[in-house]
Amino acid sequence: MSNTRSNPLSARIGAGSLTLVQGDITSESVQAIVTAANSGLRGGGGVDGAVHRAAGPELLEACRELGGCPTGDAVATPAFGLRQAERVIHAVGPIYGRNEGRDEELLASAHRRSLEVAAAEGCRSIAFPAISCGVYGFPIARAAQIALVVIRDALLAGQVEEVRYVLFADAEFQVFAQALRDLANESEVVQLAS
Ligand code: ADP
Repeated sequence: MSNTRSNPLSARIGAGSLTLVQGDITSESVQAIVTAANSGLRGGGGVDGAVHRAAGPELLEACRELGGCPTGDAVATPAFGLRQAERVIHAVGPIYGRNEGRDEELLASAHRRSLEVAAAEGCRSIAFPAISCGVYGFPIARAAQIALVVIRDALLAGQVEEVRYVLFADAEFQVFAQALRDLANESEVVQLAS
């Protein structure tokens, strides 16, 4: 039995950085915190429950005013009680197997739109959870490949400067760490920090 957390794994990508960390996303100090929302923006369990608890009831109120968000898209609200962040970005990933073969495209889009919305809101740093990899059932190894490629391209384009990808469980962290090592092997613009 051990409570030790995996050490973060970082890579330089263009002028920016990507860091994989194991932990609770509500503890992250970044300008934008992404949550894995449902399309009704009604709050929920998992990471969305944790973000709503930390931000307080005003977050749900702000979500109600937005009225919803389609799968594959993302919308921003203030971060309210999450004081170390400025914005919460509500990303709606696909429920795996329910999208007529478009799951991968929709997962990529949820990440891409989160980065675009963060940039439009003036945020240079952003933290992601493993969108769709919990209750929504997306196979995590494939999700990691998809997410990391989208993030690489956003960093190369200078859309944001710092991306932190926060994995709740050690097993999830290990899968993403392997995917990042694989990406660094095949893509010379991704340079792992030693
Ligand atoms: P989805 O419905 O999109 O699958 P979930 O919240 O069920 O979203 O799960 C997404 C991921 O978030 C899972 O990998 C889960 O382990 C992780 N998770 C749950 N709580 C937290 C948290 N507080 N911080 C970061 N990640 C979390």
